[in-house]
Amino acid sequence: MALMSLFKIVLFVFFILFSLTTTFAAPLLQWPLKNPVLLQGFGITEFVKQNPNFYESGEHLGIDVSEGFEAPIYAAADGVVVTKGKEVCPNFSHPRCNYGKGNWILLWHDTLGLATHYQHLSRPSHLPIGARVRTTDTIGFEGASGRIVGDGSHLHFSVYKDITIYTTLDGNTEFQIMARESILNPIHLLPPITK
Ligand SMILES: [Zn+2]
Repeated sequence: MALMSLFKIVLFVFFILFSLTTTFAAPLLQWPLKNPVLLQGFGITEFVKQNPNFYESGEHLGIDVSEGFEAPIYAAADGVVVTKGKEVCPNFSHPRCNYGKGNWILLWHDTLGLATHYQHLSRPSHLPIGARVRTTDTIGFEGASGRIVGDGSHLHFSVYKDITIYTTLDGNTEFQIMARESILNPIHLLPPITK
């Protein structure tokens, strides 16, 4: 009988510890802007419902946050620059004109097994591919390059797991997202937003 009670107490203690760790687990990422205002959430947002053809995937596969044009963008976690690029339209009469990320940079965070992707930067990131970054490092600046909703600048921030990184024949580093399930809702990995 005493053994049974002891067993129950041990179970109870484990339950409390488990609850504490799941409730108060530290967020994996930090906000890439110091004072972010959330402009658009993740997935099938109100904007997506009203503009079903705006995104190729039919979903907003990241979040849009803004602090202001040229606000510094910080690495969401310690990591390394995997690759960066500039995606703009070939010409303005093209139906998918500016259907793009603009100036963007992708970081890989080994300890988390996650990649973070920052789009629409005001100019190409100053960081070289392969550079190690910490959360205190500026990796770029908020801008409005590429195809954006409205006129204002913002940062489109995405988080991926299970990506493949490869080198093209002409020597560029590219990445591929393996499945829709590999694209995570960044809100779940960040501290609660205050605005
Ligand atoms: Zn976006």
